Amino acid sequence: MPYPNAMPSTYPSEASAPPPLDCARHAVFLDFDGTLVEIAPRPDAILVPTDLPARLAALSDACAGALAVVSGRSLPELAGYLPGFAGLMVGSHGAEARGMAPPLGDSPSGLAMLQNDLAAFAASKGLLYEEKTHGGALHYRQRPEAADEVAAFAADLAAQTPGFAVQPAKMAMELRPAGVSKDRALSALWALPVFAGRIPVFLGDDTTDEPALDWAGTQGGFGIKIGTGDSCAGYRLPDPEAVRDWLAAAQGVSWGV
Ligand SMILES: [Mg+2]
Repeated sequence: MPYPNAMPSTYPSEASAPPPLDCARHAVFLDFDGTLVEIAPRPDAILVPTDLPARLAALSDACAGALAVVSGRSLPELAGYLPGFAGLMVGSHGAEARGMAPPLGDSPSGLAMLQNDLAAFAASKGLLYEEKTHGGALHYRQRPEAADEVAAFAADLAAQTPGFAVQPAKMAMELRPAGVSKDRALSALWALPVFAGRIPVFLGDDTTDEPALDWAGTQGGFGIKIGTGDSCAGYRLPDPEAVRDWLAAAQGVSWGV
């Protein structure tokens, strides 16, 4: 294939800009936070461009439905940020999906107790707790000095709760069902007829996206890393605005803000 596959982790931050999106040939997989919208100080404080849902819907149509939003957020939350976009959507790193059967069935038992423990720890340490359908996240963006303490607590809690694993993210530690990941979600999505014969392209910004960026390369497509930091992706875009411009260029239109 003409695209670079997975690159070493030393791949420079000035990695080349991606080739144009081709709606007739590509399948588009998009992370949400940090990729389509800017990261905010709190996860509930993101600013979603007003035309984003309609633009995604139009792009999905242009790609004959071969487009999915793949996020760590819970599915209801994600859907709430994208009203009017009825396309494929994967939430909770693959534990929930819209438009297909999720790769994971029911949550492991122990979810309620795990969520109680996370909420209590957050309250005692002045952290932000984000409850998710299949787990929960501790955000320390506003208390970065608590990073080590949060990591240790998350590791202990995962060790005590069978079926759950730690998912590190930007300024957050999340507990999610073990075995769930975005690359597994993409593998499941990839079996849908709508993607047949297409070239996968995944866009993501976080460490949680690396397996999915790698997956796109191994399937003959390519990954696009958003922002700075080591990545296995062959291409890079600087920020969500650049992502939205890159997507809009495929349709020959300008997306608003
Ligand atoms: Mg992200």
